[in-house]
This record gives sequence, structure tokens and C-alpha cells, in this order.
Amino acid sequence: MNGPFPASALPSSDFHAGLPRSHPHPAGFDYLVVGAGFAGAVMAERLASQRNRKVLVVDKRATLGGNAHDRHDDAGVLVHPYGPHIFHTNSADVFAYLSQFTAWRPYEHRVRASVDGQLLPMPINLDTVNRLYGLQLSSQELPAFFERHAEPCSPVRTSEDAVISQIGRDLYNKFFRGYTRKQWGLDPSELDASVTARVPTRTTRDDRYFTDTFQAMPLHGYTRMFERMLAHPNIKVMLNTDYREIQHLVPWRHMVYTGPIDDFFDHRHGRLPYRSLRFEHVTLPKQQHQDVGTINYPNEHAYTRVTEFKHLTGQEHRQTSLVYEYPQAEGEPYYPIPRPDNAALYRRYRDDAEQLAHVTFVGRLASYQYYNMDQVVAQALKTFRQLVAREDDAESGCATASEGSSARPADKVAQA
Ligand code: FAD
Ligand code: UDP
Repeated sequence: MNGPFPASALPSSDFHAGLPRSHPHPAGFDYLVVGAGFAGAVMAERLASQRNRKVLVVDKRATLGGNAHDRHDDAGVLVHPYGPHIFHTNSADVFAYLSQFTAWRPYEHRVRASVDGQLLPMPINLDTVNRLYGLQLSSQELPAFFERHAEPCSPVRTSEDAVISQIGRDLYNKFFRGYTRKQWGLDPSELDASVTARVPTRTTRDDRYFTDTFQAMPLHGYTRMFERMLAHPNIKVMLNTDYREIQHLVPWRHMVYTGPIDDFFDHRHGRLPYRSLRFEHVTLPKQQHQDVGTINYPNEHAYTRVTEFKHLTGQEHRQTSLVYEYPQAEGEPYYPIPRPDNAALYRRYRDDAEQLAHVTFVGRLASYQYYNMDQVVAQALKTFRQLVAREDDAESGCATASEGSSARPADKVAQA
């Protein structure tokens, strides 16, 4: 089992038996939520506010928000210590849910890629092509240009296939190949098509990075939003604590686990690969450093991109803070690596997870899926509904649960 304790030391799944379910357990917690990121915070908030459950949230970090944590740096500029987080979603439900805990500042992210001595719009659009090649194509002419250069392939399996089959090899080499090799330590031909497919190609002059219906940043930052989500009398938060330190000390009935799934099982099938980053934060004595939020460097430097936070947050300040992202193999597990062999290894852990009726796995690392924030929120809201259905079925004595009959992680959330 997880940790040095024998399985018999775990709270039994009927810890709650005999108590009216609408009331929290008087001597312990109904839920132990591991991780105070989006997955953990949504689950805790829902269980506490909608089910009157008593929830203990533990995080091994000293901060709330998981990788979406933000804080003011020494200069007083609001920064994202774990890399730039830009909120965007097509889900009215996700946006409405989070809007209970924050007001928003409308923000549309723009990115330029440094290619052949120019800073060009990324995603590739009409202006990118015209400026790169010194052309004057119209929006109507650009699809034919892409078609002339595309190298059709079927099936489209890899990240190389995904780009070359759409826009051809030259644009692929200039914008995708170097960036992807740096970011993942792998050639695009070794990664699932879904990775580079995150970045579309446009035939218009639209230079926004995202086209989602809702694009906005939490007005007072992510951390403030998390504080409000977790400020429920039924929720206690314990930071600087690995769940293994307390799982046998504090009584709980059901665990919601949002950390890396292979870590939970002590890597019994081998380590799932993750890609990490080193963040270099810099503050400069000037108001603004670059014209847009992020500049990507596909072909130069060891870093992939530079983000200037004041574009994202709208903060007025006489100084400005930037973050440089240096990809690396070792370190915090930031990115699951989408490849068929990794997916197969994940499925072995997922099968193990399904056997554990008292643990629910949710979130980017627990599902080993390259999820954005909104997808994690959508997954957690869905997982909450499944847990509720299970509890209700158990209470009414039904043998089969309706929506969620197992601890299976709700992997594969449709684009939220
Ligand atoms: P996490 O945020 O990773 O939270 C998991 C928490 O569990 C962590 O706080 C961790 O400390 C804790 N934990 C793990 N193990 C234990 C343990 N044993 N005991 C106690 N606690 C434990 N998404 C977007 O939508 N837009 C963006 O612009 C964007 N930019 C990103 C940039 C970077 C560099 C990265 C890495 C991710 C980005 N994302 C972005 C994705 C976003 O960070 C995730 O989708 C989201 O934060 C995942 O939330 P989570 O709760 O699943 O996981
Ligand atoms: N990508 C690229 N060049 C770019 C931007 C992105 O090759 O200028 C590829 C790269 O493989 C990257 C992936 O597209 O990892 C997804 O990009 P995204 O900006 O969504 O990455 P994230 O913000 O999740 O790090």
C-alpha cells in the first residue's frame, strides 16, 4: 500500500457507518483531500458547501493553489512562481463556478515567436506568413499556400505529423521543431499529435493565443480565489504536510488524491515520466520590457519562453517582473509526457486505482493528462457529482452506483 503502514492500519471504508450522512463525523474528517491545487480545492469546496462534509486539505507545499499559486515578489509585482497561468475556457459552467470566488479582469493573451530575427505572431496566422516570407497573401489565399507546402500523412499520429500535414516542413522547422525538442527533450516525432495540436494555425489576422469564449484573469489573483474557495467552516487546511505524515494520525473516511498517481503507489510499476522546468524570475527597473505577455524562443537560448506578468495581471508598477522557463528532466513533475508507452504505463496505475474504493484520483498528475486549469475544474466538478451519486446509492442500499461506481479517475474530460 501507500506508505510504510500495513493496509490494516488504513481507516476502514465503513468509518462513517451508523452516522447520519448529512452531518460531519464528530471525531474526524469525512474527506482527506491531498493537494490544494484546482483539483483539491474544487473537491473540498463542493464537499463542504454542498454536502456539509468535514474536509481536511493537506498540501506538502507551503502555499495554496498548486501550480496556479501567485504571490507578490520582493518588488511588489504579482507573479506566478510556477510559471505563467492564463485562464481561458469555453465552459460557461466552469466560469460560473469559479466566479463565485473571484471577480475577473478580461485578458486576451498574445504571444510572439522570435524567428529569423523577427518577433512574429504565434499561433501562425496571416501576418506571420506574410512577414516571414515577405508576401502579401490575403486570408482567402493562405489556405492554398498551406496546402502547397503541407505534406499529407495518414494517420496523423505524432506532433511532427500534426504540424507538417497542415502547414509543411519549413514553418514546422522554424516554429515547432526546436521549441518542442527543448520543451520535452524529445523530437516531435516521439510525442502524441495532441501536444503541438494545442497550438492551431489561423488564416486570419487574429493574433490571440486562445479563442475561448471566456478569457480572464482572477482580479485579485489566483491565491485570493483559492483562499475564498477554502474559507468554509467545514474545511481545514494543513500546509507543509505530506499526506503520508498524517494519514494514519487523523481519522478520515475517503481520500481525494490529486498528486502524481505513480507516487501514490510508490512507483510499483516504474516511474511515470514527467517534464520539469526551472523558473528564472527577474525584476527590471522599468515599466515594460516586451510588447506582449509572452515571447517564445523556438530556436535560440536554453529557455523556451519569457513572460512579463504585468501584461497578464494589469498591475501598475514602476518595475516589471519576468519569468524565463528552462525545461529540464529532473525536478517537480509539471507536465505528463503524452506518448503511447507512457499512456500504457499510466493505465496500469489507473487499474490499481480502480481497486481502491476509499480513494478518488482527480487532477492533472493523478490522471496523467495534459490538462489546462479549466479542464481540471470540469473534471473535479464531474468527480464530485460521481462521489455524491455513490454516497447516495450506498445510503439507499443500492448495489450499483449510477454515475461513479468505482474510484476510476475521470480521465478524458472533453475540452471544458
Ligand atoms: P496541481 O496544481 O499540481 O496541484 C497538486 C497539489 O498536490 C500540489 O500543490 C502538490 O504540492 C500537492 N501534492 C502532491 N503530492 C502530495 C503529497 N504527497 N502530499 C501532500 N500534497 C501533495 N493551465 C491553464 O489553463 N493555463 C495556463 O496558462 C497554464 N499554464 C501552465 C504553465 C505551467 C508552467 C504549468 C506547469 C502548468 C500550466 N497550466 C496552465 C496547467 C495548470 O497548472 C494545471 O492544469 C492545474 O494547476 C492542475 O491542478 P491540479 O490540482 O490537478 O494539480
Ligand atoms: N509549441 C511549439 N512552438 C511554440 C509554442 C508551442 O512548438 O511556439 C509546441 C510545444 O511542443 C509545446 C506545445 O506546442 O509544448 C504546446 O504549447 P502550449 O503553449 O500550449 O504549452 P504550455 O503552455 O502548456 O506549456
